[in-house]
Amino acid sequence: MHKFERGEEPEGLKKARKQKRSWDEFVRTPAHIELAECLYERQERCCAYCDMTIKSIKDGHIEHLERRSNAPKRALDWGNLFFSCQRKDSCGKYKDSEISGAIDSRLVVDPSQEDPLDYFSYAETGEMVVVKRNDEKAETTIKVFNLNTQRLKNARSRAYRNAIVFLKNYDNLGENPPKEAVEEFLNDWREEEFFSSVFRYILKR
Ligand SMILES: [Zn+2]
Repeated sequence: MHKFERGEEPEGLKKARKQKRSWDEFVRTPAHIELAECLYERQERCCAYCDMTIKSIKDGHIEHLERRSNAPKRALDWGNLFFSCQRKDSCGKYKDSEISGAIDSRLVVDPSQEDPLDYFSYAETGEMVVVKRNDEKAETTIKVFNLNTQRLKNARSRAYRNAIVFLKNYDNLGENPPKEAVEEFLNDWREEEFFSSVFRYILKR
């Protein structure tokens, strides 16, 4: 999970709310595409929950943190909307199929409002670790989105090791590396499975 700036809501969403449109009506309008694009870009093309890169907008979906069935009034609420990957063993799809009962958004970490690095650190094994002991909010977040599923741990562990190598190699470029060298470096790096949360955590250490 990594922090992103939510910013202003798209006009189409605001308008649909004023018109009291239902979600089913809304998905048939261009404002739905506008909303998906807005979230996708503001989240830097990453899943709001697992932080993995979503290659194209078709590989993700708009996610209601508080489900429409539990919180119909929040169906068009900007603060309740995120862009999620399509994986079934984690994130939005996992939450909706495996977690019973309503989700209270106050009980999970909101990456558009808070910095997840205040709640989570990362082990070399790729495990997401709760920073403060008995932090119910952080623990609930991991559980609800299944963020320590083995697939994610494996991918994060690779990203962790890559980050260490990257930083070492980056040091080797010298004190004032030419701009092109830095760009090339970053592009190679982005080709890999990239978790900005893991990378930021290592930088912070
Ligand atoms: Zn995800």
